[in-house]
Amino acid sequence: MNSIYQTAAVLYGKEDVRIEQLCLHDPADGEVQVRIMAALTCGTDVKVFRRGYHARMIQPPAVFGHEFAGIIEKVGAGVSVWEPGQRVVAANSAPCGDCFYCVRGLEELCEYLLFLNGGYAQFINISPRIVEKNLLAIPDHLSFEEAALVEPLACVVRGMQEVPVLSGDTVIVLGTGPIGLMFIRLCKLTGARVLAVGRRSERLEMATQLGADEVFDSSVIGDITAHLKARTAGSRGADKVIEAVGSTDAWETAMTLARKAGVVSLFGGCPADSIAKLDTHRVHYDELTIKGTFHHTPKTVRGALKLIEDGDLPARYFIQQKSPLSELPTVLASLLNGSGIIKTAIYPPGSTD
Ligand SMILES: [Zn+2]
Ligand SMILES: [Zn+2]
Repeated sequence: MNSIYQTAAVLYGKEDVRIEQLCLHDPADGEVQVRIMAALTCGTDVKVFRRGYHARMIQPPAVFGHEFAGIIEKVGAGVSVWEPGQRVVAANSAPCGDCFYCVRGLEELCEYLLFLNGGYAQFINISPRIVEKNLLAIPDHLSFEEAALVEPLACVVRGMQEVPVLSGDTVIVLGTGPIGLMFIRLCKLTGARVLAVGRRSERLEMATQLGADEVFDSSVIGDITAHLKARTAGSRGADKVIEAVGSTDAWETAMTLARKAGVVSLFGGCPADSIAKLDTHRVHYDELTIKGTFHHTPKTVRGALKLIEDGDLPARYFIQQKSPLSELPTVLASLLNGSGIIKTAIYPPGSTD
């Protein structure tokens, strides 16, 4: 088997990422080797950088980064539908298709979900299952960095499947990070009235540009519940509430904002072992529906690429900074310190010339 060296980012522990030369093997049977043309930073990567590991996905030392797109460099034996030169994007996982959950159509909960990491590198070998289920060709008019937004958007598309927003609904979206902003856009596309709650003025400005009808700065409005409910029909509360912050405070607030028989989507993942309070009176007498959602499915991955392809989700808008791979440690450190950049596109050596 041939192997050469490539440049890749390696996570060693807490806030310790180094750019190194790693051995790159030829793709094994059924694998596809992709030359990465752009990768995107993600809140999950910042979390991993801060903690030095990811319980389910990454134990150091390890390559990481999971939002990327590129060009097929080589294909392994037995790969017939892909060939070198094709522009592709891969999701960061693929379900098995056969387990208890997969056969029930809950592929995001697959008991053998296979993850892919190593997007912050020149090359990545994509495992056969992901090649088969979650490798997609990129339409010519999309750039690599736009296509790389598929993975987080696929999670949001899945969230929208689970809590269908109807035309005419009033929806409150808590959070104006990349995920919150994507929800705002998709809710607007369905014809809902969208009230967005966030923090920074530049994020609230983005929320408006993506379709929020009204925006609220949580740091200045005081009582979020009273303030927001007053902006809904009869001050009853919103038809749908989407929590995209990932804190127990936000989860608890979300449950106060829905009207009777409203639906609350608790989308943001909180730290392990965290517990949020539940107002049992509200859930019972007000008939609340509370829904958690996690990850994506092959179908929502395709749905996400279509949204980007059609321009319904303006991917370019989310990418606010571009940096070479050599600067990744600095970029992650600045994100950790709250630089407020939505997405930074990371370019490995050789991808820009
Ligand atoms: Zn991500
Ligand atoms: Zn499965």
